Amino acid sequence: MFPHRRTHDCGALRREHIGANVVLNGWVHSRRDHGGVIFVDLRDRWGLTQVVFNPAHDAKAHRLAEALRPEDIVAVRGAVRHRGQGLENPKLATGAVEVMVESAELLTKGRTPPFEIDESANVGEDLRLKYRYLDRRRPNLQRALIFRHKLNILARNYFDSLGFVEIETPILTKSTPEGARDYLVPSRIHPGCFFALPQSPQLFKQLSQVAGFDRYFQIARCFRDEDLRADRQPEFTQWDVEMSFITQDEIIEVIEGLMKRIMKEMKGIDVPTPFPRMTYHEAMDRFGHDAPDLRFSCEHRDLTAVFANTGFSAFKSAIDAGGVVRAMRVEKGEPLSRKELDEFTAYVGQFGAKGLAWLKFRPTEVFSPIAKFFKAEEIEAVRAATGAEVGDLVVFVADQKETARVALHELRKLLGKKLGLAKPDAFNFSWIVDFPCFFFNKEENRWETYHHPFTSPRVSDFPLLDTAPEKITAQAYDLVLNGSEIGGGSIRIHNQGIQSKVFELLGIGPDAAKQKFGFLLDALQFGAPPHGGIALGVDRICMLLQGLDSIRDVIAFPKTARAQDLMCDAPNTVEERQLKELSIRVVSG
Ligand code: ASP
Repeated sequence: MFPHRRTHDCGALRREHIGANVVLNGWVHSRRDHGGVIFVDLRDRWGLTQVVFNPAHDAKAHRLAEALRPEDIVAVRGAVRHRGQGLENPKLATGAVEVMVESAELLTKGRTPPFEIDESANVGEDLRLKYRYLDRRRPNLQRALIFRHKLNILARNYFDSLGFVEIETPILTKSTPEGARDYLVPSRIHPGCFFALPQSPQLFKQLSQVAGFDRYFQIARCFRDEDLRADRQPEFTQWDVEMSFITQDEIIEVIEGLMKRIMKEMKGIDVPTPFPRMTYHEAMDRFGHDAPDLRFSCEHRDLTAVFANTGFSAFKSAIDAGGVVRAMRVEKGEPLSRKELDEFTAYVGQFGAKGLAWLKFRPTEVFSPIAKFFKAEEIEAVRAATGAEVGDLVVFVADQKETARVALHELRKLLGKKLGLAKPDAFNFSWIVDFPCFFFNKEENRWETYHHPFTSPRVSDFPLLDTAPEKITAQAYDLVLNGSEIGGGSIRIHNQGIQSKVFELLGIGPDAAKQKFGFLLDALQFGAPPHGGIALGVDRICMLLQGLDSIRDVIAFPKTARAQDLMCDAPNTVEERQLKELSIRVVSG
């Protein structure tokens, strides 16, 4: 037997190694028996190397190779040689060479895997998640997770270089309201009492400012029990940041510096800074959403005034019911077929819109089944407002304002993909600023915050807390990349009186505030510096920069859309004894 310790990894060998004696360890990726001579591609994290078992060379090793199956693990020793003229594989980094095996040993026999360990194999996601450790042998997932590792290192080094201190905050803690449901952990020692897993380290990072750390940073895990979407997970990671004696502009500048460095080092792209900024209201007016994809135009226009006296009944009845007519120019959309337009109509229906009207701007006419209902001056006004030219399409939704905004926003996203307007290799960053602070939830008859209750109103708006909370602008900002919110933060309230007032507005009276946030209110009385911060979504950033569609592809052990871990089969029931210890009784159904 030879020592198994490898001399090289499976991605290392090149022409210059020809003649060297090497030892490789790895998984059998594939095996080809060419009438006696057996070729095996040996795989590890670094790549694939072809190793050759020739019975004339070493009969024992050849016998071993005959029995090898994919995913067995072997150690081989032999000499590196050139593959031979014309036999090189330019697709492999090691493709010029192969190893002539002189001795080999089976280190582990592998069971036949439930799916092929191959990047291109099309495997159902449930099966991949059940055998996540096999799934993660596939190069695409390995690449994605190594990319994530590098991103985290880069962020950590960046913040360190600017004097930030990495501070770990507790996982067993008290609820921090970020707008989701808490995951609760029962206490054994205090029957009937619960910890909450942090929805974010928000209060702890603020308290680190009160403690004088000035610049805090953490790669923080957050937990939110909410309905999941493709880009959400019940537990996710943030680069969590907080700074003292700071303005919104300075925080934005620090984060732009980070994103600039990431884009340069991870993607080789120079992104210009400062990133464009848009107010919340402008974003809602122009794109119907607070995280617009700015890779393409397709802007919304409100044409309610244009159609105030229209003869087109669908528009008229929407306006009479207090609604709006919103339109969107689709550049070069004229050739879209009737079938496609019907599909778009059905699509906006999913978002509550009752219909989708459209006009095609052709060289000699403006065409649409409903064109006859439009007066010439209305069509002219549409043209002027949207900037439509020959070859374009204009689509309309007439409905309540919110429905029209949402429907056109969703359609805009769909068109971005379908018509290739949103270039996959373009990265467009922007800031959305000047959010409203509060909105009134009519169903629940109470005020709620757009961000969280610790976000400071603009100082000049403080008096409005008593008179018109809906008019208050928050000192809050979101970072948007290609239509996804990748971060959000705010300047915080550092005055105990204002914080108590905000709690009160939100229906958290003095007693409840003391019970829930007494520690914060206390701390704010002991000399809290003005401070603010931000959190950036690592999973989303990682997904977007790699052009992936699912957040699960950048998480080592993700949950399904139904918040389950299919590999460990969690969540699951526990033993009666454990429940008893926790003073918990499960009421089924
Ligand atoms: N805690 C906030 C969040 O998790 C971010 C922040 O305000 O810094 O969204």
